[in-house]
Amino acid sequence: MHFDYYSIAEWKKIMAFSATRETPFLIVLLDIIQRKFEQFRTGFPDAKIYYAVKANPGTEVLRLLHDLGSHFDIASIYELDRVLDLGVPPDRVSFGNTIKKARHIREAYDKGVRLFTSDCEADVRNLAREAPGSRLFFRLLMDAVTSDSDWPLSRKFGCQPRMASELVSLAADLGLTPYGVSFHVGSQQREIPAWDAAIAQAKALFEWVEAENIHLQAINMGGGFPADYLVRSNPLSVYAEEINRYLGSHFGNGVPEIYLEPGRGLVGEAGVLVSEVVSIAKKSKTDLKRWVYTDVGIFNGLMETLGESIKYPAYTEKNGETGDVILAGPTCDSLDIMYEHHKYQLPLSLEIGDRIYWLSTGAYTASYSSVEFNGFPPLKTYYL
Ligand SMILES: *Cc1c(COP(=O)(O)O)cnc(C)c1O
Repeated sequence: MHFDYYSIAEWKKIMAFSATRETPFLIVLLDIIQRKFEQFRTGFPDAKIYYAVKANPGTEVLRLLHDLGSHFDIASIYELDRVLDLGVPPDRVSFGNTIKKARHIREAYDKGVRLFTSDCEADVRNLAREAPGSRLFFRLLMDAVTSDSDWPLSRKFGCQPRMASELVSLAADLGLTPYGVSFHVGSQQREIPAWDAAIAQAKALFEWVEAENIHLQAINMGGGFPADYLVRSNPLSVYAEEINRYLGSHFGNGVPEIYLEPGRGLVGEAGVLVSEVVSIAKKSKTDLKRWVYTDVGIFNGLMETLGESIKYPAYTEKNGETGDVILAGPTCDSLDIMYEHHKYQLPLSLEIGDRIYWLSTGAYTASYSSVEFNGFPPLKTYYL
């Protein structure tokens, strides 16, 4: 099954590197990120790509993407420092988090950032004061479409279109530069028409503010592009083709500038998390299911298995007849169970000490790992 996700050469590299190292650790294959970046560029030739740093903030990942010509979407001044330290000019950075302290806005502004996203009055007023004249994206609430995504970013972000149009006017009055509309259709969005609905809303906002003589120039389509997990998704080329068609149908010849902020779609498939079976147990003599405890869990890399939202492919080198397992992590917390309801099957010959390889774990794993819960160190990452 691993060859459904990685080439023979890639897998050889992973095996050779991991053979003598103690688990758990994450391997990130930089070539895969490069390939994905090129796919984004091919699919969206006119778009500006702002890598969402939070997906995998590893220095090697940032350096590679900088070399490839990526821009960066940051969530905090700490991510800002990471990219600036690598020599990324501040005019290639967007502060996309709508939730930020006034003094952090000032710090980003002082360091040269002039592009922000906002979705509420308090933040617009802070931006006018701390980042005068900056360009602003206004983020739309995407409740209706995010329910089709595997990791929704709904409710908490964005505002209703009517409120967004009021914010645009307010921002203009306060001397900011209303620049465009942004949205995020939900992470790991497998329903491509979600973008159609979102672009339609963006278009409506463009027209409303046009009536007040404010000309928005750009749409920031956020992330949401998928990585291949147990549940497969369409290739990026199909996403690109459909989304470009939606843009043409809503905007005709006047398609605005397009910004993309892929995180998962760029780095997800590049990672393989290598773990070891710590224990195998049954809860009674007649139990039909085995509990398989591994040295990774919710707290040291597999956070997105919460609610069994993201189903990573799990591969072992053992083969033969398989049976149902419950997969759980190593900590003394009963929350630390990755998969119980979704029936994972692993070989009956699986033993303590065998390795389990979690595929497509390049995004939202290392950066989500706790500092020392139960004393376990944060997940180590190697970049090959
Ligand atoms: C998290 C986030 C992204 C990246 O989303 P993915 O689904 O991982 O591609 C992009 N933009 C913003 C504003 C985000 O918060």
